[in-house]
Amino acid sequence: MRRPSQQYAFLVAEKNRDTTAITTGRNGARALASDIATSTTWSSSGLDETHNETVAGRRSKLYSRYTNPTVRQFETAIAELEGAEDALAFGSGMGALASVVFALCSPGDHIVAQQQLYGGTIAFLNGPVRRMGINVTFVDATIPGAFTEASKTPRTMLVIAETPANPALALADLGELGAIAIPFTVVDSTFATPMSQQPLAHGVNLSLHSATKGIGGHNDALLGVIAGESELIDAIWAYSVLHGATASPYDAHNALRGIRTLPVRHERQCASAMQLATWCEQQAKCNKVYYPGLASHPQHELAARQMSSFGSVFAIDIPGGIDACRTFISAVQLVRPATSLGGPETLICHPTTSTHFGLDEESLSGALASDGLMRISVGLEHVDDLRHDFAQAFAAIKL
Ligand code: PLP
Repeated sequence: MRRPSQQYAFLVAEKNRDTTAITTGRNGARALASDIATSTTWSSSGLDETHNETVAGRRSKLYSRYTNPTVRQFETAIAELEGAEDALAFGSGMGALASVVFALCSPGDHIVAQQQLYGGTIAFLNGPVRRMGINVTFVDATIPGAFTEASKTPRTMLVIAETPANPALALADLGELGAIAIPFTVVDSTFATPMSQQPLAHGVNLSLHSATKGIGGHNDALLGVIAGESELIDAIWAYSVLHGATASPYDAHNALRGIRTLPVRHERQCASAMQLATWCEQQAKCNKVYYPGLASHPQHELAARQMSSFGSVFAIDIPGGIDACRTFISAVQLVRPATSLGGPETLICHPTTSTHFGLDEESLSGALASDGLMRISVGLEHVDDLRHDFAQAFAAIKL
C-alpha cells in the first residue's frame, strides 16, 4: 500500500483520519461506491492456475472464504484507519475473537483476560476456551499492573482487553498492555472506533472491532475485524480460513459505506453522549453515571491520555434495581430498547438481563453489571430531544 504522503503529495504531513475515511479502501477504483463481489468462486485456465491460486492463499482469486475483493477493500480501509500493516475481516466480532484465540493458543496455554468485558466474550472464555484446555485468569483492568502481574507465567500466550469496556465503561491502560512482554496482546476497541483511540500506537499487537457497531454504523452489517502486523495477520488468516467465520461481501460493502461517514457520526455521537451523561449526573433518580469523558469517572485521566474523544456509549445506575430499569425502559419513546451500539438510533439495554445474561454472580460483579445498570448507545437524534425523552423516563420512576 502506498503511504498517504506519497499518494497525496500536497499534504504536508500524514492525512487527517477524517480524510482517510473518505480516501481509503478504494483500491484504485473509479467508482465512488464499492462494488459487491458476489461470486464465491473464481474459475481458472486449468489445473496449474488453480494450484497456483491455492498456493497463493490469502493473495489468491480462488474462493471467497480465502479472500474476497469487497472484503479486501474493507480490510484495507481498517488497516489504514488503525495505522496497521494489515487487517483481516470476519463474519462477526465474536468470529474475530474466536479466530484470534484458537489461532494463537493451544491446550495448556494461559490467557489473561479483563474481567470487564462484553458478556459474550466472558461466556466464550469460560465455555469453549476452557473446554479446549486453555486456562483463563480474569483481572480487574482498573488496577494498574494487574495484566502485567497475571501474565508472568511461562504459558501465558494472550492478553485480552476491552477498552472502554462493557457494560460500565471501565478502561484498560493501553500503555501497560503495549509494554507486556508475553507473546500477544489484543484490545477490543469497539466502543472507541478507530476515531477515538489507536491501540497499535501503544505497542498492542492486535486491535479488534465488532464492526457491527460504530464502524458499520447503520445496524445493517454483521462484521468483525482485527488489525496488526502482516506476519501475525497472515498467521491468523491461516487458521481462520479453516475456522470459517468468513466476512460477507454484502456486509463489507455496507461497512465501507459506514466508514465514509464514521468521523462525522462519531464526533456528533461523542458530543451528545457527553452532554447527556453530564445531564444524567445531575438527576436525583440517578445513583451514578459511567462515562470516560466525565471528571467523575475514576479513570478519566487515563481516558484523556489515551483517547481523543470519549465514545458514544455511557451507562447509568439508578435506584430501584431491575424494576426501576423496567419502568425507565418502558417509558422512553425516542430511545429504543436494543442490545447493539454505535448506530444512528439511540439504544438502551439492561445488561444483566441481556448482554450479560446467564453469567454467574462472580462474573457479573467483576464486569460491574448490577441490576440497576443500563447501557446507553447515543445515536444521531438531536440531543435536546433525547434529553426530553430521558427526563420523562426518569419522571416515570416512582421510588
Ligand atoms: N465486542 C464488543 C465490545 C461488543 O459489544 C460486542 C457485541 O455486542 C462484540 C465484541 C461481539 O460482536 P458481534 O456481535 O459483532 O459478534
